[in-house]
Amino acid sequence: MTDNCLFCRIVRREIPAKIVAETSECVAFRDVNPQAPVHVLVIPKRHVASLDSASDGDAELLGRMSLLAAQVARDENIADTGYRTVVNTNAGAGQTVFHVHAHVLGGRRMGWPPG
Ligand code: AMP
Repeated sequence: MTDNCLFCRIVRREIPAKIVAETSECVAFRDVNPQAPVHVLVIPKRHVASLDSASDGDAELLGRMSLLAAQVARDENIADTGYRTVVNTNAGAGQTVFHVHAHVLGGRRMGWPPG
C-alpha cells in the first residue's frame, strides 16, 4: 500500500522535495503547486490514508502533525499575520493524495468561506 504512495516515497527520499522541517515522526515540504506565497505540506512519516481512515492509535501522530504545522508557520514568519491549515478529506473535498497531510498556507489574505 505504501510502496506507490507519493508522500511515502518523499519520506523515503525516492522523490525529491523541498523539505523545510523534519522530526522523528513527521516531514514538512513545500507544495509543488503553491496556492499562497507560503504553502507547505506537513505529513506523518507513517502512512495514514486520510483523516477519515484515522483511528485512536493515530491520535498522537495527528497531534504531532498539527504541532509541526504550527512550528513551520512560525519559522516561515506567517504565524503573527495569520495562516490557514487545511486537511482535505476524501475526493469530494479535494483530497488527491491519500496520505494524510496538513496544508499550511499564508503570506496573503485568506478568504472565508473557503472554496
Ligand atoms: P490534496 O489535494 O489536499 O490531497 O493535496 C495534495 C497536494 O500535494 C497538492 O496541493 C499538490 O500540489 C501537492 N503535491 C503533489 N505532488 C507533489 C510533490 N511531488 N511534491 C510536493 N507537493 C506535491
